[in-house]
Amino acid sequence: MENITASEIAGLGVGTLLLCATIAAPKIDSFVSASQRSSLGMCKRCGDLKLIACSTCKGAGSVQSGGLFGFTTDARSVKCTRCQARGHFSCPDCS
Ligand SMILES: [Zn+2]
Ligand SMILES: [Zn+2]
Repeated sequence: MENITASEIAGLGVGTLLLCATIAAPKIDSFVSASQRSSLGMCKRCGDLKLIACSTCKGAGSVQSGGLFGFTTDARSVKCTRCQARGHFSCPDCS
């Protein structure tokens, strides 16, 4: 590994970034347009991720409890009951 130059490392980094962008692009696109998804044969609901983020906990798996109504500072994090603390659901359309 001693004869790898800085420019080769930089090139490797760029190549890795490009590779990641290429892999990620269809997933990113899937969030852009439902009509585009369907034209690509992807799941309209999840964009073929097969997962849907929980809207209650925003995918965190836990929600703040206690401070909900603004009358108490005793806010604490509790398990999200909607998604059973998983933060996401399986997509009902394609899973
Ligand atoms: Zn949840
Ligand atoms: Zn789906």
